[in-house]
Amino acid sequence: MARIEKKKDVVIVGLGWTGSIAGMELAAEGLEIVALERGGDQNTVPEFKYPNQIDELTYGVRLKNMQHPRQATVTVRRDDSETALPYRSMGSFLPANGVGGAGTHWNGLLWRPQPEEIKLRSYVKEKWGESIIPEGMNLMDYPVSYDELEPYFTQFDEVAGVSGKAGNLKGQIQAGGNPFEGWRSKEYPMPALGTTYDAAKFQATAKNMGLHPFPAPAGIASTSYVNPYGMQMAPCNFCGFCERFGCYQYSKSSPQTAVLDALKRKTNFSYRTHSEVLRVETSADGKTATGVTYFDAIKQEEVFQPADLVILSSYQLNNVHLMLVSGIGKPYDPKTNTGVTGKNYAYQMNGGVTLFFKEENFNPFIGHGSNGMCIDDFGINQNDFGKLGFIGGAYWRVGTMNGQPIRSMPLPKGTPGWGAGWKKGIGEWYGHSMSIGTHGSHMSYRNNHLDLDPTYKDPHGRPLMRMTFNWQDNDIKMTQYQKIKAEEVGNALKPDLLQSGFKNIGAKFDVRPYQTTHNTGGHVMSEKPTEGAVNRYCQAWDKHNVFVFGAGNFVQNTQYNPTGMVGGLAYWTLHAIRTMYLKNPRPLV
Ligand SMILES: Cc1cc2nc3c(=O)[nH]c(=O)nc-3n(C[C@H](O)[C@H](O)[C@H](O)COP(=O)(O)OP(=O)(O)OC[C@H]3O[C@@H](n4cnc5c(N)ncnc54)[C@H](O)[C@@H]3O)c2cc1C
Repeated sequence: MARIEKKKDVVIVGLGWTGSIAGMELAAEGLEIVALERGGDQNTVPEFKYPNQIDELTYGVRLKNMQHPRQATVTVRRDDSETALPYRSMGSFLPANGVGGAGTHWNGLLWRPQPEEIKLRSYVKEKWGESIIPEGMNLMDYPVSYDELEPYFTQFDEVAGVSGKAGNLKGQIQAGGNPFEGWRSKEYPMPALGTTYDAAKFQATAKNMGLHPFPAPAGIASTSYVNPYGMQMAPCNFCGFCERFGCYQYSKSSPQTAVLDALKRKTNFSYRTHSEVLRVETSADGKTATGVTYFDAIKQEEVFQPADLVILSSYQLNNVHLMLVSGIGKPYDPKTNTGVTGKNYAYQMNGGVTLFFKEENFNPFIGHGSNGMCIDDFGINQNDFGKLGFIGGAYWRVGTMNGQPIRSMPLPKGTPGWGAGWKKGIGEWYGHSMSIGTHGSHMSYRNNHLDLDPTYKDPHGRPLMRMTFNWQDNDIKMTQYQKIKAEEVGNALKPDLLQSGFKNIGAKFDVRPYQTTHNTGGHVMSEKPTEGAVNRYCQAWDKHNVFVFGAGNFVQNTQYNPTGMVGGLAYWTLHAIRTMYLKNPRPLV
């Protein structure tokens, strides 16, 4: 029988960005809070200290900070004619394991969505009519507007510490920023970072072509900064070790740098590591949760943690799995298009061109995860879906991220992958290339969903979650359009060689190469309980004291990296809990 812990007001499941923010905001209400984190503790010192952290083999290749399949994995199939098999070597996406979550080893690109993306179904319907929505696409509006979310996007920007240049301040277009972004109530907390040579080169050509370049919004400090929680950031030195690494110099926004030390000082907050939550427990009438059962990996025992309020902040995939094994929301059935949990799983549609220049040197080792210049000229609110024949868009970015010798050696196609030929290729081409990356939206479809696997189980005897996912023509058409445009701009830069990497019509989902950890959907926000698992405040429709955080709330994926929206939604939900729910616990809708 499970050991029973002393009851708390709040139990938080997972201590990444959303769990840390939830801890901080709810601790301010004087509540007794415990956070349960599956992985170990991680701090800037000693875990990420220099020079240990800049070890590409340990962190970049062997993925020391990531979730390992032996702890948690999914089974994967492309459609229901296939048998799903367990994903045994993480590649396509890299969920986190440990205090700080993936915000510890992310790149820091911190975007907010365009207003049109928040009401995409209505936008499409009004401009082109519903008939352009392809059969099987579950295109939805968020049950909340950009204007409602704007203050919370700003709050997250200020806590995370973002560097950039506003393009639209209170409706006034600003020189040097992104003219196609949604309005901002404030300028970025820090000015934009300096520009590397590749980005400057792209900026000049793009401007000449009538495009609108602007600096990438970076969760990387350009100057010294103190956030609203009193946490300090120091300016980035462009060391090139962001993605897959903890930052050793307090420059990259992360829960460690922005929240956790302030949170750990709260006497009403505590956290337990090596504590994996196995399920949410339910009251006899099924209307509320009573707490969670977790596995204490140190004592090797199950523990029941009673609590009045349950915050699921264990990342999109883990949240959906916990909801499915705990009976939160009816599981989605793609055949009937009914049920809600596991619905609208979506991903991201990326592609890019690499440009090689014999005579130019780009110093690729100078960079960071959010470096560079972007354009939004081929983004969602710029594309004519009716004419182009797809729904979606992409932003582009040019900027060196790192020159790490194992993973960052772009070579012309045909260069041998090993031996003397490879060495010769590296000698000729290292530092002589730049790339234009297109980062695109991905819609939700009836046949892309998550449910429980009928065969495979995890170490705790729970069914693994099954992912049924394949690329769809709509999103491939979108990326093919970006290819045509990126090749045009790439050629205008006059490289000696241009190489494209985009998915072609008919491409099948391949789990091996890293694509993004921007998995979305599965517990989507909705107007009605029949359409999604949570309401507009990210509160479970069927258990009012369960609030669910993260990109699982997305109704379809935006064209941007998700964490700006994830953070904004977290503050939106926490505001609702603080101002409405705690006074009178109930379904808020
Ligand atoms: C390599 C990489 C690069 C990225 N770059 C960007 C970027 O540039 N911009 C961007 O917007 N996004 C980026 N992302 C995505 C971004 O990191 C996530 O959107 C964000 O971290 C999600 O925050 P979260 O709080 O929802 O979950 P997480 O950060 O994943 O935190 C969840 C926590 O829950 C814990 N947990 C899981 N299951 C359980 C359980 N059952 N019990 C207890 N604890 C549990 C995990 O160990 C983890 O610590 C990147 C991700 C990766 C992996």
